[in-house]
Order: sequence, then C-alpha cells, then structure tokens
Amino acid sequence: MKRALQAVGGGVSQTVVSVILFFSGGFRIEWQGFICLMLFLWTGHVALLLLIRLGINRRLSDPSMTREMVIWSILTLLTTVFFMDQFRPLMLMYFPIILLYGAFSMTPNQYRATAALMILGYIGVILTVYKLYPRILNIEYEIVVALVFTLVIVAFSFVSNEISLLRKKLHLRNAELASAIEKIERMATTDELTGLINRRHLMYVLRQQKSVADRGGISFCVCFFDIDRFKRINDHLGHHVGDIVLKRFSSAVQPYLRTSDLFARFGGEEFVFVAIGVDLDGATVAADRIRRAIQALRFKDVAPDLALTVSGGVAQFRCNEKIESVLSRADQALYLAKNRGRNCIKTEADLDV
Ligand code: GH3
Ligand code: MG
Ligand code: MG
Repeated sequence: MKRALQAVGGGVSQTVVSVILFFSGGFRIEWQGFICLMLFLWTGHVALLLLIRLGINRRLSDPSMTREMVIWSILTLLTTVFFMDQFRPLMLMYFPIILLYGAFSMTPNQYRATAALMILGYIGVILTVYKLYPRILNIEYEIVVALVFTLVIVAFSFVSNEISLLRKKLHLRNAELASAIEKIERMATTDELTGLINRRHLMYVLRQQKSVADRGGISFCVCFFDIDRFKRINDHLGHHVGDIVLKRFSSAVQPYLRTSDLFARFGGEEFVFVAIGVDLDGATVAADRIRRAIQALRFKDVAPDLALTVSGGVAQFRCNEKIESVLSRADQALYLAKNRGRNCIKTEADLDV
C-alpha cells in the first residue's frame, strides 16, 4: 500500500505538471480532451489501489505491484507526451523517476526491459506524431531529444541497477542476521551436548511458573535426577562414552514426558524434571517411571555390560517461596535417595520421617 501511495504521489505530481503545461499551451488538445487524458491516467492508479485494498495483489509474485505501476506510469506518460508539442522534453524528466521507483523491486532483466520500453515507446510516439502531423515536427530537433533521452535512460538504468543490487545484498545480510540471532537464541537456551534446555532457561521457566502459582494458579513439582556412579563410567569407559551415556539418557526420558513437562540439564550428570499441574504423588510416580526406563536402558554398541541407574528427589512448590527453596528440598531428597542405596526416588515427605 505504501508503494501504491508513492505511485499515487507521482500521479498527482504528473497531473499538476500537466495542468501547468496545459494552461501554458503545451498540449495539442482542447480542455475536454485534456480531462479525458487525466481521467485515463487516474483510472489505472485507482484500479491498482483498489486491487491492493481488496487484497487481490497478495496472489501475485510481487504483492507491491511495482512492475504493474511502472508499466502503467510509462503508458500514461507516453500518451501524455503524444498530445504535447514544444514542452514534450519537460515531461520526459518523469521517466528516470519511474526507473528509480522500480529499483526497489525489479530484477536487472525487468529493469532492462523497462528502460527499453521507455526508449522504444518514446521513439514510437515521435514516429506516430511525425506520421500524423509531419509539418509540426522539426525532425532534427526530435532526433537530438530522442538521442539524449536514450543516453540518459541508459545511464539511469545503470545507477538504478546498482541500487537494486545493493538492496539484494541488504536482503541477504538481513536473512543471515536473522538466522544468526535464531542460532544465538537457541544456544542461550539449550544444552549443546544433550539438546535439552539448559540451567539458565530452566530458571527462567521456573520463575514464570512461580509467578503463575503465586497468583493462585497451577502449582508444580521439581525432581532432581543424578546419574548413579557416573564418575566410574567416565573412569572405566572414558569420557567419550560418558558423553554418549548422557545423550542417550536425555533421549530415553523423552517418551515419558508430557507436553507440559520440562526436562533440563542442570549441569554435569544432574538433571531437573519439572511436572506442571501435578501434586507430589503424581510427580513421584512420573519420576519413578523415568527411573525404571533408565534402568532398562542398554548400551550394546558402546558398553554392553553397563547398567545405568539414576536417583531422584522430588519436592512441590509452595506458594510464595523462592525457587531456590523448592530446588533445595528436591536436592535434599536426592541426597536421601543416594544414601538409601541409589536407583530410587525419594520425596520431601521422606525427609521428615
Ligand atoms: P553418585 O552416584 O554419588 O552421583 O556418584 P557420581 O560418580 O555420579 O557423582 P559425582 O558427582 O562425583 O560425579 C559426576 C561426574 O560427572 C564427574 C564429572 O567428571 C562427570 N561429568 C560432568 N559433566 C560431564 C560431561 O559433560 N561429560 C562427561 N563425560 N562427564 C561429565
Ligand atoms: Mg552429581
Ligand atoms: Mg552422580
């Protein structure tokens, strides 16, 4: 719409100049003919505006309809200069403006075609006028005008082509920048090794959940998971296998998560499971399901004898408490699970017993 209004601005300017030139005796036609000419010019502009207003332009490859506006402007200008005599070269000054306008969305080929249309169109108009009214034309003068016009249009198309290329480069840079920003955002929220959300993003989500729960909304539980004897895996099988175990652990829990659940890598071989809208018992059942799934996990290709287990500690968020408090209770419950022989889930309720 902005582009169309710019074209309308051009149409207004062209109309004003035409009126001035009409009253200066620049036209070969009477006022009735001149009004018809102006109506012709505006029919196209209004039609293009209507097409955009009705949304029909969205079906086109270029919804700004720049090409259509450029062609229409060239046609109306050629028609206008056809009815002019001594002031004709003044009207030609509009052609470079049209070329510049087109620089914002035309390809170099369309560009050359537009410049050719202007030059050939103008020569066509002069030849037609010469054929119809041979006596009013000074052919030597017209040849000079047409030659200069051609050279100016060719020079302009080079400049506008540069603008068009610059625009393309800018477009490309913007796309690169957008993808870089997306990558940075992903890196800031996810853990590189496992692809799980990282500690920073977990804390952000937990703060959001806290504000919902504090206002009487849905509560949530957190469960600290810590892989049992992970140091031994690293020591006996190597750091590389340790990394593979962490990755497979992260994938293995996925089928046991609801869409509302979160599973984050807190650091090292420690993970945090967040169950939203679930009470302590419900979260414990879910955590134990994950524990059993890990127990059943096998690593035939990298460590056939490895039996991986995990311990967990669950706590429920209490209204208005700090996030650190609920995480600390879950951590204490995890510590209890480790003390009770590992490969089990303990809750904050077990702490008081
Ligand atoms: P526990 O059952 O008491 O939890 O014993 P543990 O050996 O798992 O406990 P500890 O916390 O002492 O050991 C964690 C180990 O995890 C130590 C560290 O080298 C290893 N680790 C931490 N991050 C990574 C990682 O990204 N890759 C690998 N391979 N190892 C890691
Ligand atoms: Mg640990
Ligand atoms: Mg551990």
